[in-house]
Amino acid sequence: MTGFNPFTLAENVRKKVVCVKNGVEYRMYYRFRGGRWYGGIATGDVVGCNLRCKFCWSWKYSHRCGHGKFYSPRDVFHKLVNIASRRGYRFLRLSGGEPTLSMNHLLRILELVDNTEYIFVLETNGLLIGYDKKYAEKLARHSSLIVRVSFKGASPEEFEMLTGASGKFYDYQFRALENLIDAGMEPGERVYPAIMLSFSDPKNIERFKERLESICSGLSKYIDEEYVILYPHVVKLMRRYGLKPRKTFEPDNLPDFMI
Ligand code: SF4
Repeated sequence: MTGFNPFTLAENVRKKVVCVKNGVEYRMYYRFRGGRWYGGIATGDVVGCNLRCKFCWSWKYSHRCGHGKFYSPRDVFHKLVNIASRRGYRFLRLSGGEPTLSMNHLLRILELVDNTEYIFVLETNGLLIGYDKKYAEKLARHSSLIVRVSFKGASPEEFEMLTGASGKFYDYQFRALENLIDAGMEPGERVYPAIMLSFSDPKNIERFKERLESICSGLSKYIDEEYVILYPHVVKLMRRYGLKPRKTFEPDNLPDFMI
């Protein structure tokens, strides 16, 4: 396998999108918004990621680190709560790039959210949590947190083809689930798997489910299926890489399970 090392890339990206001022960790963001996902959620979109998915809807900000503004955890918390309270949402999240690149920033936001009625959804590729058991333990202490580990493909080969990272790192996504469950997060309720299935071979999907069951009996029934949404900038990216999905959806015709 010839793909890149996503942990090396994480270190390099972190230097550009994370900074510390007066002992506080700041993260670069490119926008804050409300949205219909999860029945209504306030979202901060971070800049920077340690994968290079060829179907990424936010590739202009996840694959590049040039454009954005640094915010402190407290700034982010206030922005998210402001959006959520105005619109009557229960959920807050970070999205866009990979939120776990800035661990201290993320943990401080969670501390602030723990003192509210809001639920924080961490959408992550899981690699850094799979790599570091202690990171999982720190996350698991936060009562407001739900973690959605989003798998990129259903096998090491699909992972490498879709993300550009070596397939030998694919297993860290499973280890993220293992570490979070070992740290006390309830499977299905506080931690669950999602998977991009637009490009997957049915046999690999079966093996993927078996691997989940080997972690925890019943875990495969909580899979959140993801499919490519054909936004024009996503179509452009897939064309550039010659990527041909088996199943997609149009942005204005999404099934209920995708919203
Ligand atoms: S892990 Fe997510 S944010 Fe990062 S490149 Fe892949 S789809 Fe984009």
